[in-house]
Amino acid sequence: MTEQCAEIGHIPVIPRGGKPCSCGKSGCLETIASPAAIVEDALAILSEEETPVLWKLCREKSPAAPDIGDVLNAALGGDRGASAIVGRAVSALGAALKSVIYLLDPDKIVLYGHIFENAYYLFRLLSEMREGVDTRHAVVIEKSRYNLRLEDRAAGLLAVQAFLENGGVRP
Ligand SMILES: [Zn+2]
Repeated sequence: MTEQCAEIGHIPVIPRGGKPCSCGKSGCLETIASPAAIVEDALAILSEEETPVLWKLCREKSPAAPDIGDVLNAALGGDRGASAIVGRAVSALGAALKSVIYLLDPDKIVLYGHIFENAYYLFRLLSEMREGVDTRHAVVIEKSRYNLRLEDRAAGLLAVQAFLENGGVRP
């Protein structure tokens, strides 16, 4: 088994005019698909009209500012605005992961990050990953069993089991 690990958060997904990224570029995957980006995008449209479920959730809590759990719960609860933002994040991450699958042909993709602990988000991502991947490139996609135990910086982390069995230290 080959051993490869890639952080895909800084793959450019918006050709021009994307949001500035912490890495200095703009339009990286992280600017759309990271939990912070999802919350930021939801805040930008937060209103009783565009995001009614999220609006209600925020009114019922203190502090009122939504976190990633609120945005995902709102989307799950039928909030069209929140759902569209989550959908955009999922399809950007899905497209990046599919590129990785076709480029590197991994046996397995291991997802690392707090957001993958959310069953609704993981379900949407796995649904997205069933589209546009042929059977020759069938790949196991699973949540890292080391999830939340390593530094959380990437929107998605690609690794093979050998990497993780090594305790997250690159051989
Ligand atoms: Zn970046």
